[in-house]
Amino acid sequence: PQPVLAVVGRPNVGKSTLVNRLLGRREAVVQDTPGVTRDRIAYDALWNGRRFTVVDTGGWEPDARGLQAAVAAQAELAMSTADAVLLVVDTTVGATSTDEAVARVLRRSDRPVLLAANKVDDERLVPEVAALWSLGLGEPHPVSALHGRYAGDLLDAILAAL
Ligand code: GDP
Ligand code: MG
Repeated sequence: PQPVLAVVGRPNVGKSTLVNRLLGRREAVVQDTPGVTRDRIAYDALWNGRRFTVVDTGGWEPDARGLQAAVAAQAELAMSTADAVLLVVDTTVGATSTDEAVARVLRRSDRPVLLAANKVDDERLVPEVAALWSLGLGEPHPVSALHGRYAGDLLDAILAAL
């Protein structure tokens, strides 16, 4: 079976846009994996001749426990089911308390965790990326899911972790 990368983070940071970017266009095969709830959708990805599965999370409504608990629960699930986890944050906003709560959960992971600093659409945002070291997840990888900037570098880092 191919390795699985789970993509987590709070709503609107660009998880789904980034998943589409990681898949590329024509290689992407959308699959509704049996037994996986609707809020976790798995896709086949191919990079440098290596196949892996990308699981997009989200699409759920924050429940009575609140957004922070819901996102943390997704992160727990990702840690226990995926070979590596990609936390996506919005570089234009910076680390929020929800991002910090999820990072706290992910720091306990015994699987590799990568940090994507999304929405780095132009060079002016690069200095903001370094601030995300504060999440304690190692090097923040800049990327613009929207424009594709740095996507190849992020894919290289993902495959090195898987
Ligand atoms: P999700 O809720 O985390 O899955 O986020 P989405 O992928 O649905 O994206 C939320 C919003 O952020 C959408 O309006 C996207 O177009 C936007 N977005 C995603 N990635 C980028 C990016 O790299 N740059 C900018 N400027 N906007 C982005
Ligand atoms: Mg989404």
